[in-house]
Amino acid sequence: MLKNIIAPVQAWLLSQNRCVGCGKPLVGKTQNKKSGQAVVTCICKRIYVFDDVKKRFRRALVTEI
Ligand SMILES: [Zn+2]
Repeated sequence: MLKNIIAPVQAWLLSQNRCVGCGKPLVGKTQNKKSGQAVVTCICKRIYVFDDVKKRFRRALVTEI
């Protein structure tokens, strides 16, 4: 039940370039030297990757950190 509510909220937060954990705007992109992707580390330590194709953030995979 709760999952059904959280997933759309997280998708909405990401579409607004906001952290799904704390809701803060994701700013201060840096370039990942390994992959060349733009990444942002939130103040709550969650790491996001900017998807150039979709023009939005997504959570970084463990292999990308
Ligand atoms: Zn956060």
